Amino acid sequence: MYLYNSASHKKEEFVPNHPDIVKMYTCGPTVYHFAHIGNLRSYIMEDVLEKYLRYQGYNVKRVMNITDVGHLSSDADTGEDKMLKGAKREHKTVMEIAQYYTDAFFSDCKKLNIKRPDVVEPATNCIAEYIDIVSKLLEKGFAYEAGGNVYFDTSKLDQYYVFNDHDEEDLAVGVREGVEEDTSKRNKNDFVLWFTKSKFEDQALKWDSPWGVGYPGWHIECSGISMKHLGEDLDLHCGGIDNAFPHHTNEIAQSEAYLGHHWCNYWFHVHHLNTNTGKMSKSKGEFLTVSLLEEKGYDPLAYRLFCLQSHYRRSLVFSWENLDNAVTTYQKLINKIAALDDSDKTVDQAQFDALKEKFNHALSNDLNTSLAITAVYDVLKAKTNDGTKLALLGDFDKVLSLDLLEKAAAKRAEQAKTKTATTGGYTIQGEGDPAIDALVLQRAEAKKAKNFAEADRIRDELKAQGVEIIDVPGGAQWKRV
Ligand code: AMP
Ligand code: ZN
Repeated sequence: MYLYNSASHKKEEFVPNHPDIVKMYTCGPTVYHFAHIGNLRSYIMEDVLEKYLRYQGYNVKRVMNITDVGHLSSDADTGEDKMLKGAKREHKTVMEIAQYYTDAFFSDCKKLNIKRPDVVEPATNCIAEYIDIVSKLLEKGFAYEAGGNVYFDTSKLDQYYVFNDHDEEDLAVGVREGVEEDTSKRNKNDFVLWFTKSKFEDQALKWDSPWGVGYPGWHIECSGISMKHLGEDLDLHCGGIDNAFPHHTNEIAQSEAYLGHHWCNYWFHVHHLNTNTGKMSKSKGEFLTVSLLEEKGYDPLAYRLFCLQSHYRRSLVFSWENLDNAVTTYQKLINKIAALDDSDKTVDQAQFDALKEKFNHALSNDLNTSLAITAVYDVLKAKTNDGTKLALLGDFDKVLSLDLLEKAAAKRAEQAKTKTATTGGYTIQGEGDPAIDALVLQRAEAKKAKNFAEADRIRDELKAQGVEIIDVPGGAQWKRV
């Protein structure tokens, strides 16, 4: 497959270091709040990437960290500690906050059919690994102690800006408005590897280290966790585009300085979900969650489809109207699949291969998910038997994870329950319950006789039994609610 590599700024053929395994690392959530649907856009697209690699026959080992320490509100190591902020807001301990929001994150992932990575590691589990890396960086002269902290010295590198498609202004995080400068840094982009001088009096999590009691910087956790579980080389590293700088840039700096060789081959960055007022962000405090979508009656998988309809390297604008369009598309898709005859089990292999080729063509070209959805429509329109179509849709859904066959089966079951009774040209669609049908008919007769009070009384009586009537041309439909 071809993937755009942010490190080389071009599409490249994906070839893993070891033919039998793809080593994949993903930056996990900072668990001081719920993940918003923007964060989850990144995780949905990364999930599709992992599943597509597996679909192509690769063995994938995927590792994800959970940031439960060290992430300050500015990515440039200044500002408040995000976890502490969450704990204060909710009058809980940092570890309680971490557990609660980690569980909430995986519950959201489950609703969106995002597979749990093979290894999930909280940052606080790997302190010994970070201490080892920081010690070696000091030994090799890539780090220095100043003002009570240990910093990485970016001036020691031949090349620091790996993803240099950022403009200088973006890179000058340390001098951004509202962000106080850390005077202990020798160079503007130096970053903290280990904090011993916490400016937070009530810093809850701290550990002993050769440099005093303290806690790790944010970037070191991903290098430490990745090397612990995936060794000294990595095929694929993923995250949202805001992670490219400084987080991933710093990960590369410290990992390669520590290892003394090249570390990760492919960098996959998902662009942002924006609202019409800009990037959706947790720190702004106003953001949409999966629970909120559910409260409003949306199926989380309609949001997954919404994300799949656009390319991961383009920013995506969220609006309720756009989501409503995805809901309509999803419902139509399921209705079409439900109309296929699921008793047909024969597969026309030649047709199957030709249509699968279109799907592969889309995804192997830098994970073009919107074209992959078009390939789903191509299957539905194809001149082939229903068995072949259903086999293809089941196959594609290993990657898309939209529950296409399951939802269609549920739709068929719902439709099977619907029985039609026609009396004197008046058609009643329902579950075939004669007592209810009789009341529905009585109501129709009352309406015909302009006895609206009686018609309303019958509607209320049915409502009391949990039955809802919808008038349709030539009759009525009823369902239990
Ligand atoms: P965080 O929990 O802030 O560490 O972010 C978790 C993941 O979500 C990271 O990979 C971020 O780059 C990504 N992310 C943050 N905001 C957005 C957004 N608005 N759209 C897409 N991804 C995002
Ligand atoms: Zn990371």
